[in-house]
Parts: sequence; structure tokens; C-alpha cells
Amino acid sequence: MKPAPFAYERARSLDHAIELISGAEDARLLAGGQSLIATLNMRLSRPQLLVDINRVPGLDRIVMRDGKVEIGALVRYAQAERSTEIATRAPLIAKALPYIGHPAIRNRGTVGGSIAFGDPAAELPACFVALDAEAVIAGPSGSRVVKADTFYRGLFESALTPHELLKAIRVPAATGETRTGFAEFARRHGDYAMAGLAATARANGKALADIRLVFFGVATTPVRARGAEAALANGDLEAAVKALATDLIPPGDVQATSAVKRQLAGVLLKRVAAELMEARS
Ligand SMILES: Cc1cc2nc3c(=O)[nH]c(=O)nc-3n(C[C@H](O)[C@H](O)[C@H](O)COP(=O)(O)OP(=O)(O)OC[C@H]3O[C@@H](n4cnc5c(N)ncnc54)[C@H](O)[C@@H]3O)c2cc1C
Repeated sequence: MKPAPFAYERARSLDHAIELISGAEDARLLAGGQSLIATLNMRLSRPQLLVDINRVPGLDRIVMRDGKVEIGALVRYAQAERSTEIATRAPLIAKALPYIGHPAIRNRGTVGGSIAFGDPAAELPACFVALDAEAVIAGPSGSRVVKADTFYRGLFESALTPHELLKAIRVPAATGETRTGFAEFARRHGDYAMAGLAATARANGKALADIRLVFFGVATTPVRARGAEAALANGDLEAAVKALATDLIPPGDVQATSAVKRQLAGVLLKRVAAELMEARS
């Protein structure tokens, strides 16, 4: 199918992008286009104006700042896969990136596009929450920072308003005590996951502390399994798996029934818990 007619503007700067989206009734930002163009072609979305941010300077950098890795919204997945900072200071993201689509999609798709779009089955939004990261948002009245735990509000709904732009995400840099785990089940490699799990923890002697278990593909947003986190912190994996029965209420979808997703979540938790216990990850 072809998209409904729309106007197109290329933003020269961050301020220009905000001016353009604030001035139009129904404008949409265009980053990698890997989700937006599909929704336009299927006429799930009919914006009047597309504001292309691909040439906005300064949004495609990965920098260390105040103990955090700042990943600009326009950093492509492929660029992040090649980054030493991401490999060493944000290893959970490095683990998740190869699961996103295929190389052609990773060459265009952006970190900011994935976080802003917030597909409930996508890998990076779950990592964003598991990492206790934050979103740097720019809008007509300046910049603000929103913690990942409060960023997602519902299905494809986030703290971003229609006149705002995600500038970057900030991820606390990994230390020697940081542990990460990632696993997902998809029908074919590169498909969206039927269920997945992104996790972080801090090694505390032989135990784990500050555990964050974030499932994706099982709810309308990435979802923390708080009962399982508490059980795992007590070193009780079986209790953690049992706790998923109340932590997760997965709706069935075209990929799998609710019962299958529950089963998969338990298997994922066992795999990821073993990964978290490994000496350095
Ligand atoms: C065949 C195929 C397979 C895929 N498989 C996967 C997969 O397995 N896992 C996965 O996670 N994704 C997958 N994707 C989607 C891909 O990851 C997209 O790149 C991502 O969802 C959106 O990033 P984008 O840069 O392409 O954003 P766009 O498509 O350009 O934009 C997506 C939405 O986010 C908004 N937006 C973009 N950037 C910003 C910003 N900086 N601030 C505010 N709003 C913004 C846009 O206005 C739009 O509404 C797949 C895509 C395809 C085509």
C-alpha cells in the first residue's frame, strides 16, 4: 500500500525540529523510518507533516558523561554494535542489539526511534528500563529528564508529548560488580520476540542485589517482575519462577497464547538467572 499524502520538512537543528513539530497540527518525527514508514504504508498513521531529523547535528554521538553513557537519539543500531563504550560500559545493550531485526534494519533504525516508539515486544525499551536509565527530552519549553521506570505509560504511549523530541538516553555505566542477562524467544531470528527478558543486577559477594528483571512481549509495555526480583535476591530461583504467575498477566497475541508466554517467561528467567550469576557479564 501507499501512504496517505503528507508534507515533508528536513530539520536543520534541534530547535528547528521542535519549531516544526510544534507548529503543525499532526506532525511526526522521521528518524530511521523502520517503523514509521510501515505504519504510513499500512495507513495505520496519517500525519500531515513528517519532520526528518536525520541531519540534526549532535544527536548521533555516544559519550561518557558523569558516570553515564549518553547515547544520542540518532545513534543507529549498527553504530551502537560497533561502539567500544557500549560494549564495555553498557553491555546489556550490546547483548540485545543483535536480536533486533536484520542488518538492513540495524543500519537505519535508531536507538531513539526504538525507545520513543516503545513497541512492547522490542528489545531496547526493556533494556532501558532494566538499566534504570533516563530519557533526555527536548520540547518548546526546554529540556527535561524522565526516569525509565515512569517513561512508558501504555501501549505505544510514553512520557513524550507530540511536541517533544527524545534527545538521548543516559545509562549508568557498568562497573566490575554489574551483571547483565538477556534472552528472548522469537519464531525466526530477527522477528519480534514472543517473549523476552532483559536483566541487570549488582554482584554482592556470592549473592545478587539491585536485581531488575524486565520482560517484553508479555504486556502493553516492558514490565518488571518484582516478585521474581525479590525471590531471586533471596537466592531462590524456584520461588522466582513461581512468582511470575502473579508478576505477569500476558495477553495472548498472534504469536503465542497467554499460557505459552507464561511458560516461555519461566524458561527465560532460568536462563537469565544463570547468566547473572556468571563471574563477569
Ligand atoms: C522487518 C522489520 C523487523 C524489525 N524487527 C525488530 C525487532 O526484532 N526488534 C525491534 O526492536 N525492532 C524491530 N523493528 C523496528 C526497528 O527497530 C525500528 O527501527 C524502531 O522501532 C524505530 O526506530 P526508527 O529509528 O526506525 O524510528 P522511526 O520509524 O523513524 O520512528 C518510529 C516512531 O518514533 C518516533 N520517533 C523517532 N525518533 C524519535 C525521537 N528522537 N524523538 C521522539 N520521537 C521519535 C517517530 O515519530 C515514530 O512515531 C523491525 C523493523 C522492520 C521493518
